[in-house]
Amino acid sequence: MDYDENNIFARILRGELPCEKLYEDAFALAFPDINPQAPCHVLVIPKGKYISMADFGAQASPEEITGFFRAVSLVAKRLGVEESGYRLLANAGPDSMQQVPHFHVHIIGGKRLGHLLAPP
Ligand code: AMP
Repeated sequence: MDYDENNIFARILRGELPCEKLYEDAFALAFPDINPQAPCHVLVIPKGKYISMADFGAQASPEEITGFFRAVSLVAKRLGVEESGYRLLANAGPDSMQQVPHFHVHIIGGKRLGHLLAPP
């Protein structure tokens, strides 16, 4: 599967669609999820064109991987959920129901989240 240049997050990265930038550096961009599932629900996306975690893990450079995950932990800290805790979630592929084919992680927190999987 090829990277879809017109996926929503690609368009946000190109500035064609708006987002509330919470954090940005050379490797990552963070913005609130448009349909929040918890008091804190923020997406972090890499600047590079990667479809999923599988693609990112296999193809991204060590600098991109390090830079991205450093950004994720920094964003969580700035959101104020480092002490209270948060869930990091990355959907990949059909069974996960990944909607946007640009790798992203959800930082979810701000309340007790319960155990790992909600009923489908
Ligand atoms: P996933 O199912 O992991 O692919 O999650 C995609 C997420 O992107 C969903 O939680 C959507 O609510 C969110 N989303 C879709 N469009 C936008 C947008 N324009 N700005 C912010 N979040 C979005």
